[in-house]
Amino acid sequence: MDNFERISAEIDNVPRRSILRLALVACAAFALFTATRPFAAAPEPRGVVYPTRVMGTYANVLIVTPDSAASAPVAAIAQRALARVDSLMSNWTQTSEVARINREASRTTVTVQPEVARVLEASLRLWKESQGAFDITVEPLVRAWGFIGGPHRVPSEAEIANAFRLVGAQRVQYDAARRTIHFTKDSVRIDLGGIAKGYAVDVAAESLAAHGIQNALVDLTGNMVAMGHPANAGAWRIGVRDPRDRVRFFARLPLEAGEAISTSGQYEQFVESKGKTYGHIIDPRTGKPAEGLLSVTLIGRSALDCDSWDTPLFVLGGRESRRVAAERTDLHAILVSPGDYGVDTVWVEESLRARFTLVPEARDLFQVIYF
Ligand code: ADP
Ligand code: MG
Repeated sequence: MDNFERISAEIDNVPRRSILRLALVACAAFALFTATRPFAAAPEPRGVVYPTRVMGTYANVLIVTPDSAASAPVAAIAQRALARVDSLMSNWTQTSEVARINREASRTTVTVQPEVARVLEASLRLWKESQGAFDITVEPLVRAWGFIGGPHRVPSEAEIANAFRLVGAQRVQYDAARRTIHFTKDSVRIDLGGIAKGYAVDVAAESLAAHGIQNALVDLTGNMVAMGHPANAGAWRIGVRDPRDRVRFFARLPLEAGEAISTSGQYEQFVESKGKTYGHIIDPRTGKPAEGLLSVTLIGRSALDCDSWDTPLFVLGGRESRRVAAERTDLHAILVSPGDYGVDTVWVEESLRARFTLVPEARDLFQVIYF
């Protein structure tokens, strides 16, 4: 799907407060009144999408600007930030920092670059906080299913067992003060794919802010940060994708300035075999793709927080993911679990009740339960 089309479909307008409109009208009237030369209307700010390819997918940097050419260099800086994180943390190239760690950290102690260190520290903390549901050492399993290296496939039980023997973040010795990493077992590999996109989006948004941009939206396949507000509207309204793709978005909700959102779902990467669908999120406790939920959407204060937790909540499944989500007041969750007769259940956290809207065309496909 054309991504420009996607992002413009995802965002629609919420009327701005009328007081603001009044103020604008007053300003415009004043400008007209004081103009000595014939009045030439300044171009109105509008949302301009700057798309780029990164991390094997598309990213959109949307900037609200009256001058798309003038904003292009700033958009390019944000795009370069995304590309930099990709080049550090990619598992698809042999040249990334993560690839180097994976090659060397079993036989020696490797000093890692500061940004990778930050994401590593967050990952290892998350491993503990999620009771091992998030575990960057799932790499050999992710590879066995072809979600790294491709093509997607169902591995044999023997292959799964072999890969599974290497999984367990207790085998990652990380020294935060020295920024060094060492694997205590041969062939251990790490995968930052469950967290790196969120980090990348935060870094891109920070670079826009550092260059004076106030109103923007950075979107890396559903990992987003909302800055300010869109043109002619008070809030960014984001569509949440139907994990079964029957409708484009099953729900919409406004994001406040500074909020982030992320979605993890089976529909992004999966393999189908004998009528069964296997997704790209692996349960590190079983070695098999996690089952139980269709998608996890999180709203929080940073894309890193959201992308961090969407993966382990997906692993933890229905009841447990609701318990953890309810416990964390900094994250607001929308969880989709499969139901019978084509009707799935959307579990929406109470904290989102006032702003969650099921779109009319999804009403027969979902029942909503607040928790
Ligand atoms: P997306 O990358 O589509 O935004 P996620 O944030 O859920 O979705 O990340 C999924 C990726 O995380 C997988 O492709 C894989 O690289 C990695 N991964 C899979 N299972 C786990 C896990 N249990 N813990 C940590 N990372 C995982
Ligand atoms: Mg994630």
